[in-house]
Amino acid sequence: MAIQILPPQLANQIAAGEVVERPASVVKELVENCLDAGATKVDIEIEKGGAKLIRIQDNGCGISKTDLALALSRHATSKLHTLDDLEAILSFGFRGEALASISSVSRLTLTSRTEEQAEAWMAYAEGSEMAVKIQPAAHPIGTTIDVADLFFNTPARRRFLKSDKTEFAHIDEWLKRMALVRPDIQLTLKHNGKQVRHYRPANTDNQFLQRLTQVAGRSFAEQAVKVECNHEELQLSGYLQSPQQSELQDIHYFYVNGRLVRDRLVNHAVRQAFADLNELEQPGYVLMLQLDPHQVDVNVHPAKHEVRFHQARYVHDFILQALTSALEQSVAISAVNEPF
Ligand code: ADP
Ligand code: MG
Repeated sequence: MAIQILPPQLANQIAAGEVVERPASVVKELVENCLDAGATKVDIEIEKGGAKLIRIQDNGCGISKTDLALALSRHATSKLHTLDDLEAILSFGFRGEALASISSVSRLTLTSRTEEQAEAWMAYAEGSEMAVKIQPAAHPIGTTIDVADLFFNTPARRRFLKSDKTEFAHIDEWLKRMALVRPDIQLTLKHNGKQVRHYRPANTDNQFLQRLTQVAGRSFAEQAVKVECNHEELQLSGYLQSPQQSELQDIHYFYVNGRLVRDRLVNHAVRQAFADLNELEQPGYVLMLQLDPHQVDVNVHPAKHEVRFHQARYVHDFILQALTSALEQSVAISAVNEPF
């Protein structure tokens, strides 16, 4: 067989296999782009669990007319220029693949206007070469992306979609996690024309607690133990389930430099900190770790669900120490408050 270079659409569809698993993964990629673009407000509209339509509008910096075609091309990004940049990445995106991948497995249109432009433009990619077409449009400063008929041309993937309700639940769940790590952003979520979530911007502790209540429920938010600890370049903040609560709080959110990740290290540290206090197998937590981006590798997985710490042991021990002292303080306080 002769060797051939894959046509762009096919190459993008293959790449899409890694990052575009279901509607929630599209929402994740697109909302992260909004935040990278400096948006303070993001509106999400979903139809039929996202299989019919995912529409995301932001008030970020927009994409200039001349960059629209590039935004839809693979390996085109405004967020990374050299390998050194990758060593210290703070934006969500850097691979320059999401829009190209999503657009190869859906009918995607990108409408955007920058501050410098008096008019907006709409772009979409067509055919196996994914040639980008551009036409004038009406839009305020910012960007709207419409993803219609996800997986219409990849039937194997489409068959794996669950019911609208289940797919929407995945979107809602992902958005909850985002809502906690970016309380400054106003977020709305609609399903089939009906508003389901409205997260108001939260800039004070009190407003944050309201958001935590919306996301994690009243019983977690009202009793949670606050964690706040700095050591050298490491900083941990967030909330731990109260050890007095014996019911399962099914909230296990861990963020590293603002990125939601799955990590066994934190699960382990939480369990160890609780070991003598509570029988629960996995107490609830919302924890945010900040550290020098050079100390963590985020380029481990295309969907960036995982990270690798250069000094994993050190990070683990720091987290454990921070949690243990937060718990000790809370136990001491509740002992003082206990009636005789
Ligand atoms: P990445 O985020 O890895 O750079 P994407 O394919 O997600 O790759 O996006 C490609 C480029 O399109 C981004 O680098 C950015 O310049 C631009 N872009 C995408 N979405 C938006 C948005 N909502 N607002 C402004 N620019 C955007
Ligand atoms: Mg991106």
